[in-house]
Amino acid sequence: MQKQRGVTVWFTGLSGAGKSTITSGVVKALQERGCDLEVMDGDEVRQNLTKGLGFSKADRDENIRRIGYVASLLTRHEVIVLVPVISPYREIRDEMRQKIGDFVEVFVNAPLAVCEQRDVKGLYKKARAGEIKQFTGIDDPYEPPLNPEVECRTDLETLAESVQKVLDCLTTRGYLQPDAP
Ligand code: ADP
Repeated sequence: MQKQRGVTVWFTGLSGAGKSTITSGVVKALQERGCDLEVMDGDEVRQNLTKGLGFSKADRDENIRRIGYVASLLTRHEVIVLVPVISPYREIRDEMRQKIGDFVEVFVNAPLAVCEQRDVKGLYKKARAGEIKQFTGIDDPYEPPLNPEVECRTDLETLAESVQKVLDCLTTRGYLQPDAP
C-alpha cells in the first residue's frame, strides 16, 4: 500500500463561519478512509500549547507560529493535520505556507452578518456589548486569503458540499487516493 502523504489543511475564517463544522465533516470522511490525522482546534490549542497568549497582533502571530511548528512536524511524518483557527492575518498564514510546504488553505467564508446571526458561541453579542475586546470582525481585523486552494461559502452551500470541496482538493493534489471508497 502506498504511504499516505502528509499535509496541513488550514481553515481560516471568522468565528462562526464554519471552520470546526467542516473540519468535523472532513475528519469523518478521512477516518472512513483509514487516514492518520490530527486536529489542532483553535480553542483547544489556546488552552494548552499557547495558554496565556492574548489577542494582540503579536500574540495572535505567536499563536499561529506555534501551531504551525507542530503542524509542520506532523506533516513531515505523513499525518493529515487539520487546523481550524481564525488566523486573521495574511502574512503569518503565508509564512506557515512557506514553512510547511504541503499546505492547503481553506477560506471558510460567510458574511460577518451571517456569522453574527448564527452567533454559535454567543461571542458576537458579548463583543457588541463591549464585554470582549479585540474580537475579529468587530473591533479587530480579518484579512481574507487572496489565493486560497479552496473557498467554502457556507452561507450559500451545504455542509456536505463544503466538505466535498476540501476532499476533492486533497485528491487533486495527490494527498488522497482518487479510487478510495
Ligand atoms: P467556526 O468554527 O468557524 O467558529 P462553527 O463551525 O463553530 O464555526 O459554526 C458554524 C455554524 O454554521 C454551525 O452552526 C453550522 O451548523 C453552520 N453552517 C451552516 N452551513 C454550513 C456549511 N456549509 N458549512 C459549515 N457550517 C455551516
